[in-house]
Amino acid sequence: MQFKNLNAQYLYLKENINKAISKVLTDGNYIAGIQVKELEKELADYVGTEHCITCANGTDALELALRAWGIGVGDAVFVPDFTFFASGEAVSMVGATPIFVDVDENTFNISPASLEIMIQRTLEIGKLIPRVILAVDLFGQPADYEELKKIASNYHLLILEDGAQGFGGKIGERSSLSFGDISTTSFFPAKPLGCYGDGGAVFTDDGDWAALIRSLAVHGKGKDKYDNIYIGMNSRLDTIQAAVLQEKLKAFQSFELEKINVAADCYSQLLCGSVKTPMVRNGYYSSWAQYAILLKNRQERDLVQEALSKKNIPSYIYYPVPMHRQGAFKKQTYSESEYQVTNMLCECILELPIDPYLTEENIRFISKTILESLK
Ligand SMILES: *Cc1c(COP(=O)(O)O)cnc(C)c1O
Repeated sequence: MQFKNLNAQYLYLKENINKAISKVLTDGNYIAGIQVKELEKELADYVGTEHCITCANGTDALELALRAWGIGVGDAVFVPDFTFFASGEAVSMVGATPIFVDVDENTFNISPASLEIMIQRTLEIGKLIPRVILAVDLFGQPADYEELKKIASNYHLLILEDGAQGFGGKIGERSSLSFGDISTTSFFPAKPLGCYGDGGAVFTDDGDWAALIRSLAVHGKGKDKYDNIYIGMNSRLDTIQAAVLQEKLKAFQSFELEKINVAADCYSQLLCGSVKTPMVRNGYYSSWAQYAILLKNRQERDLVQEALSKKNIPSYIYYPVPMHRQGAFKKQTYSESEYQVTNMLCECILELPIDPYLTEENIRFISKTILESLK
């Protein structure tokens, strides 16, 4: 069994994907082919924003957004303590300081209450200027944008939605990647919508930011590539990846997102009561980048993971280390008492195999193995 069976997806979509790749090879427009433009239009339509700018990966997408806003030295960006490293890394890359914030114990997303405390503390200390709330749609579920927007407006902050894991999520009828002033995603293969290499995208309704990001992504170009008005980056999605994503987006929309939700519901029905199953908030919809369960403590988690591994069932721990304890951020000082939820999650969380092609039979087998190991 695989943790994410990307091969099953390829076999299912093989004919169309091969055709799409082969067209790029024959056309020869390996960079900036027509497929890139078409994909950007399709993604913006799906998400419901005015603009979509594709780029080389989800980390660059975050950096492009921060640079478009002129975020840099002396600025504070509030980042959840429980996320993938890149969410904080992008902030440091532009010279700003990430201030880590504890997360909600039910959704694992940034806690609005802890956020407000950290903003006030930053203002009291007075060394950094609060500028951005970087909210992550962790494991596929949108963050609490209703509360975050209130806080952003009270303190005059921008919201950057890190939707690297969030593509396909919704609050009511509104899609993820439309909640931030700027939103970003990643097309790393294991993300909800993945390509066959690296890729990313930035979404916004603001035309000026969109134009600036488009320029920054291609060496700060002005009128053309040889007229350079900013120090930019080389961050493009290549045509082959765009062609693959066009095919995968069709499958994602027509059945994959629905199927992965069926798989998650099936797990939750079988496991609830025995372990803490993931909570999706009322009116929220997840794209299940991960299906995470919580065990009582580290010993119980190790025991379950070992039982799974004995049956050749892969499982992973996302994330084993909170951001505030990463070596790269050790210059900053933190008090452990601020991060009780994240510290607990790092001890107790376990991610199970999930993808749209996972069979009910396998879900039953995995669940049974977990339940037996807990007896
Ligand atoms: C994967 C991920 C990123 C980075 O995306 P890449 O395409 O790998 O650069 C950023 N933030 C989060 C939350 C992620 O999961």
